[in-house]
Amino acid sequence: MTKKQISKQIIEIAKRLYNRNMLAACDGNISYRLSDDEILITPSGRAKAFIDPKEISSISLKGATVAGNPSSERLMHLAIYNKCPKAKVIVHAHPPMAVAWSVAKPALTELPTKCLTELILCVGKIPIVPMAIPGTEDMGSLLNPYLPDNRVMILARHGAVSWGEDLDEAINGMERIEHAATILYHASHLGELSEISDADFEKLLALRADLGPRSI
Ligand SMILES: [Zn+2]
Repeated sequence: MTKKQISKQIIEIAKRLYNRNMLAACDGNISYRLSDDEILITPSGRAKAFIDPKEISSISLKGATVAGNPSSERLMHLAIYNKCPKAKVIVHAHPPMAVAWSVAKPALTELPTKCLTELILCVGKIPIVPMAIPGTEDMGSLLNPYLPDNRVMILARHGAVSWGEDLDEAINGMERIEHAATILYHASHLGELSEISDADFEKLLALRADLGPRSI
């Protein structure tokens, strides 16, 4: 794919996120590892679903601006690219239900994994990364302990991030986070959250291991 084609696809992903209420105003950012030392990334301070492909910025793996006005949250993207050689695409959005869990239940370290078979099968688990001030180095350093093993993560009191080996995987991961958070929200309002048995959990973990590390 050419840079222009990739830029158009990045904007398509932003439209999907916007249409699913995961991006408000100038929220979120999407990046794509073009080569060993060039990353395309959405611009700072713009509504990503409505930009022109020419506005997609470019940075080096060390964070230097190559072209445009790259996102202020690029340190998070760089932490993932540096620690995850397989990461090709990163999607960061602000999915409301996922963030709400981190606000209402600050002691939670992951979404309740043992409640949903699909959560285990499709992503393994969804950890909640401690809060960082947006735009600071903490956004990268707090992620480090979760990498490269986790491809989907909630960022406490802020948003979520999903990385993948291609565009589909990265967007699927983000949709999976918000969908699981929404089901768990409804379940918690209907009654107590119930868990599957340890034996079934082990079976699902084995199936997940067979499927491999990709978000599905
Ligand atoms: Zn953000």
